[in-house]
Amino acid sequence: MAASMASQAAFRGLRTTTTKHVLLDKLKCTWLNPRRWLNLQEYQSKKLMQDSGVAVQRFYVADTASEAQEAAKRLNAKEIVLKAQILAGGRGKGVFDSGLKGGVHLTKDPAVVGELAKKMLGFNLVTKQTPKDGVKVKTVMVAEALDINRETYFAILMDRACNGPVMVGSPQGGMDIEEVAATTPELIFKEVIDIFEGVRDDQALRMAANLGFKGALQRQAADQIKRLYDLFLKVDATQVEVNPLGETPEGQVVCFDAKINFDDNAEFRQKDVFAMDDMTESDATEMEAAKWDLKYIGMDGNIACFVNGAGLAMATCDIIDLHGGKPANFLDLGGGVKERQVYEAFKLLTADPKVEAILVNIFGGIVNCAIIANGITKACRELELKVPLVVRLEGKTVVHTLTHPTCSSFVAIYSGLTLMLLMNGLYTPLICGVHYQQSS
Ligand code: ADP
Ligand code: MG
Repeated sequence: MAASMASQAAFRGLRTTTTKHVLLDKLKCTWLNPRRWLNLQEYQSKKLMQDSGVAVQRFYVADTASEAQEAAKRLNAKEIVLKAQILAGGRGKGVFDSGLKGGVHLTKDPAVVGELAKKMLGFNLVTKQTPKDGVKVKTVMVAEALDINRETYFAILMDRACNGPVMVGSPQGGMDIEEVAATTPELIFKEVIDIFEGVRDDQALRMAANLGFKGALQRQAADQIKRLYDLFLKVDATQVEVNPLGETPEGQVVCFDAKINFDDNAEFRQKDVFAMDDMTESDATEMEAAKWDLKYIGMDGNIACFVNGAGLAMATCDIIDLHGGKPANFLDLGGGVKERQVYEAFKLLTADPKVEAILVNIFGGIVNCAIIANGITKACRELELKVPLVVRLEGKTVVHTLTHPTCSSFVAIYSGLTLMLLMNGLYTPLICGVHYQQSS
């Protein structure tokens, strides 16, 4: 359970969780990543792959049904595949609110592409990786379809447990990879890559063999694996996932799907990649939070969390969960906090109608509790806080003194008891005083 709340926060909204599930099952390692790595649409990732000599099928991108139909004609392919572009996986088995089943459709008739695109564009696609209302489709990819003899799974990702990149693959790729990882973990293979050495020939060939490629196809797959690793390094990726990496009857190894996540710290040297981030699928509150350098992820509960540090934020979500409550969000204030950020964070939290109480849990290591205290005081006054507030400030410059509940400042008090009261709805708004020392 402990990891579940935290990972719910960490994973929500990511394009895919597949690789992480595969790793969790196979390596028995815990990988909780609170960062929201840049995600691109499949067609954008495939463009990067093309540029690196990775085999992808020919494609066009369309924003309207007529453009999609035109693109299908222009492709002049035996068969066409139409793919809804959203930042979530599981599209093949997804459902649109137009009633259309499947975010990936194969057809031989370009006219059908137009009809299908009409039922995709402007409608929400719900997959097992989207929020329950799905994500609105604004773009479709019209690509050449190829027959696929076999679908395998292949990914390269940065893995904390291995202190570097690791390749993960399975001969049983396709739309049910999570199932494969859960039921037949022995079919998931990994190769730890030495970052200084890169992917060795024997590693690439072994992975290709483990994926079930034989003879000339094994060498072809090994070559694709090496090219994917070169791309992984070139674009500062944290994950390159290809599911399926397929084999055609004509003897080609092709990347049929593409998901790449990028290291946000590399933005300064990956300007072209980051310029592709259109943000249209991003949550408005999360984007507002990012403006103030706050890491915010909305969740389904009613207790807002205001915490510094991802670890403490995850632990706080878990404590709430342990006591039978549900966090309304994951908010990591980070270090180097300014009073204004505290105020803006409160504004975000109080604007959420789901929020029935706010829990502040701050450990003043780098953070000065006085700054937090001033920020909260200002927010309480100016935003006319209407929900109960429970504050725990610990560490630098804090001196706990519980004063009268009606005094003009606020209280820093947090205990199992107050939490329990809060969970049970017995806790009434309490704004009183904490005495803190100004930093020296
Ligand atoms: P998702 O992972 O979001 O479900 P994919 O791109 O993997 O979407 O597509 C789902 C399935 O559609 C693939 O597993 C594959 O069977 C099929 N598919 C995708 N692209 C093609 C293509 N170009 N030609 C033939 N089949 C394809
Ligand atoms: Mg896929």
